[in-house]
Amino acid sequence: MLVEDCVFCRILRGEIPSDKVYEDDKMLVFRDIEPKAKVHLLAIAKEHFAFLSDADERGRELVSYILFKIPEIARKNGCADGYRVVINQGADAGQTVFHLHIHVLGGEKLPW
Ligand code: AMP
Ligand code: ZN
Repeated sequence: MLVEDCVFCRILRGEIPSDKVYEDDKMLVFRDIEPKAKVHLLAIAKEHFAFLSDADERGRELVSYILFKIPEIARKNGCADGYRVVINQGADAGQTVFHLHIHVLGGEKLPW
């Protein structure tokens, strides 16, 4: 189920444009609007879960599906030499969009 005022649900409904790099029936990957690396992708499920800690059985299946699609998508988008996968969970991590998303950062040597 999608949520009315969620920015990523709005992207999924086509109400907000996005620079899509991959899509299938379960997930969408698009470029982050404020990239923190040369390549900065966001991978989301086509269902609304606010937090990793909220994920029920269905959410867990989707997170796993997305996670293991990432290597192929990253390789095809300039991250053949490696990339970082990040999930910001909650206030201390600075989560700003409350639709679970997986950051994929790469395209350059990343500082740790
Ligand atoms: P987080 O801090 O993990 O919640 O990250 C949310 C990310 O979403 C940030 O890196 C934002 O730059 C990105 N973002 C917010 N709105 C959009 C948008 N409309 N299109 C693409 N990326 C977005
Ligand atoms: Zn949403």
